[in-house]
Amino acid sequence: MTLALGCIADDYTGASDLANTLTRCGLRTVQTIGIPADDLDLPEVDAVVVSLKSRSIEAGLAIERSRAAEKWIRSRGADHVLFKICSTFDSTDAGNIGPVMDALRADSGDAIVLVTPAFPETGRTVYQGNLFVGAVPLNESPLKDHPLNPMHDSNLVRVLARQSAAKVGLLDLATVTRGPEAVRAHLDGLVAKGFGAVIADAVFGLDLETLGVVALGHRVSVGASGLGLGLARALVASGRVASQPVCATTDDPVGGSAACLAGSCSQATLQQIARAEQTMPVLRLDPERIVTGAEETARALAWAKERLGQGPILIASSSTPDQVAAVQARHGRDAAGHAIEQAMADLAEGLVQAGVRRLVVAGGETSGAVVDRLGIPGFLVGAEIAPGVPVLRAVGAPPAMLLALKSGNFGGAEFFRDALQLMR
Ligand code: ADP
Repeated sequence: MTLALGCIADDYTGASDLANTLTRCGLRTVQTIGIPADDLDLPEVDAVVVSLKSRSIEAGLAIERSRAAEKWIRSRGADHVLFKICSTFDSTDAGNIGPVMDALRADSGDAIVLVTPAFPETGRTVYQGNLFVGAVPLNESPLKDHPLNPMHDSNLVRVLARQSAAKVGLLDLATVTRGPEAVRAHLDGLVAKGFGAVIADAVFGLDLETLGVVALGHRVSVGASGLGLGLARALVASGRVASQPVCATTDDPVGGSAACLAGSCSQATLQQIARAEQTMPVLRLDPERIVTGAEETARALAWAKERLGQGPILIASSSTPDQVAAVQARHGRDAAGHAIEQAMADLAEGLVQAGVRRLVVAGGETSGAVVDRLGIPGFLVGAEIAPGVPVLRAVGAPPAMLLALKSGNFGGAEFFRDALQLMR
């Protein structure tokens, strides 16, 4: 198998978002959890998104991990590597976008790297190098108060220049709208003046397509899911990838029992659990007993095993904001959250041992704990259950399994039913 596109994402949810975007563009895509093992057994795919957690770690470590991911991607034949960053350019003056970009550029031999976090369909546009989040510049958006990387400057040419050893230029919208030839000529001019990176303006979807065509001629680019979309469209348009219908990738039924786990306490999830109660057995865990002992998980597993043969079940720790506040007041927020996440991971492990092969998980952190515990190295991305929530097929590790991992607020009222309908 030769990859048409390899991506390195600096966080897990960003990786899922990109993998979902590439899949919707017709690329068969696998998202791996961390740097894959050399011998990871992959199905036939066009793209791999390697998920790292390198956004806020020390820059040297981010470079080391990104380089290891790049090495694996290149070993699978990909010509182009997209370094996937957040569409709000989350970073500090110490990195990690600039340092990782510099390292990947040095490895690739590219003279100049095209950089853009633009994704107009989600309200991220770049004009004259300034990033807008909806109608406001980045430094007036809620990102100005981000706890880890507050963004106080909307001018990305300046922001990137502070992080990178390269001279950073601008590829302005007027040039982008004139198409790939004009963009290439502009980049050649910048290279001649010693520039090594360029922030590209993009305001409309068409701009991303132009940038995707040009980026494909390079070995490395830096961007958010928007640039991923541009690259994917360019790969399909050039005939290098034959566009696939999304469902084909996960259509193969896995059978086995089905179960849902809910650790999210969001409004949407609480409503979804209430709806699920009308169609399947639901066990509501006692959060207090989870935090103080292990019997609650054993009780839940015994309850589940009695019912799995008759159809899907749901186990939830989720409770209302005042109940959550009470548990947190007694045990501390982090300790309570961690104990409940680990209980959910115990349950997932026990359910799989009991024959569950279709597993729906509600809650971002909860999903992370479950996936880590199950030791799943990666996922093939399939049909969307709800916007941003695809069906996933575990790859590289027996047994064959389908999962849906939903962050709290996602999905409609019938999410659990909708998910299970697509997971056969
Ligand atoms: P979301 O995607 O909605 O943010 P997460 O799974 O990321 O959901 O986060 C929910 C957090 O709340 C997790 O740490 C989980 O363990 C914790 N939690 C779940 N149920 C309860 C509860 N009843 N009381 C307190 N904390 C809980």
